[in-house]
Amino acid sequence: MTVQEKPLQNFNISTFQNDLLDWYYANKRDLPWRNDQDPYKVWVSEIMLQQTKVDTVIPYFNNFIEKFPTVYDLAVADEQAVLKAWEGLGYYSRARNLQTAVREVVENYGGQVPDDPNQLEGLKGIGSYTKGAILSIAFNKPEPAVDGNVMRVFSRVLNIDEDIALPKTKKLFESVTREIISQEDPSSFNQAIMDLGATICTPKSPSCLLCPVQEHCEAFTLGVEEQLPIKSKAKKNKKIPYVVLLLKDKTGKIAIEKRPEDGLLANLWQFPMVPLQEVTIDLLENWFYAQYGLRIRLGQKLGDLKHVFSHLTWNLEIVEAKLFEESSEENCLIFVDKEKELKDYPFPVSHQKMMQYL
Ligand code: SF4
Repeated sequence: MTVQEKPLQNFNISTFQNDLLDWYYANKRDLPWRNDQDPYKVWVSEIMLQQTKVDTVIPYFNNFIEKFPTVYDLAVADEQAVLKAWEGLGYYSRARNLQTAVREVVENYGGQVPDDPNQLEGLKGIGSYTKGAILSIAFNKPEPAVDGNVMRVFSRVLNIDEDIALPKTKKLFESVTREIISQEDPSSFNQAIMDLGATICTPKSPSCLLCPVQEHCEAFTLGVEEQLPIKSKAKKNKKIPYVVLLLKDKTGKIAIEKRPEDGLLANLWQFPMVPLQEVTIDLLENWFYAQYGLRIRLGQKLGDLKHVFSHLTWNLEIVEAKLFEESSEENCLIFVDKEKELKDYPFPVSHQKMMQYL
């Protein structure tokens, strides 16, 4: 049954709010971005929390705020330093967009994170969820902040069987939240739903017996909580094979290159990657000369790694190689000392893992 067929008037909004908020006030998680309501910190935390678990985010958040404590510090920071602070968190466009948006806040809004929905949504990297999270958590405005966790909780509480992978379903949950959200304490309300989804109403085996809103939950009453939410399968994940070269020059320095300015992992550094969709391994040395102007000799294979992104997977074969003919021509590789210099560059996780083979 959908919420359109069964409107919210049968749902006791005020007792739901009270039960949820009483539980939250007594049990809220102690998280570093909850120490104050600084909108910049709320913003940084919400960007980091996209696609990433709370426990992973905490040390990154503390380090990031120590390095860039205000919008002004982040606005003037070197992009490579920002990427270094983000190294290992993944989805690096989040960091670049955050810095772009923070610069806009400094230039256009006098360094104050705006509390106007349209101005906030106009900033790079801020979608409807982050906008709602900043407005509610930092500015205490009754705005919905709906992500997958929130849709899971409300799918179950209200027994809504709409496909949460569809944009129109997100809109539906935003309008539901707008009606249910506490007007007195919207900041705590949204954080309470987030905490409930993270700790009690989990994707698998929700802890219904401990749940503070169990008596409001239709899925629990009907025994269908494990069947909700409905989510259609994402598109097939494409697999792309590469050889990654751990290429050393005569002095033992190791070759790295910067990724392009746009697209996946933009501006991060990596060991040279050879796409096996373009060349077979027996012709790889020639391909490398054509691409980089450097003569190399392949050595032995050192291992395999797989790295899964949301839309594609890299299958990485790690092979050692030696440079045997220097070139005076310009190329995009640089050779760095593996003990001293390598750690100064931001690398994606897959390439960080390869450093064990050096
Ligand atoms: Fe989720 Fe169970 Fe609570 Fe319903 S009763 S909100 S399914 S934990």
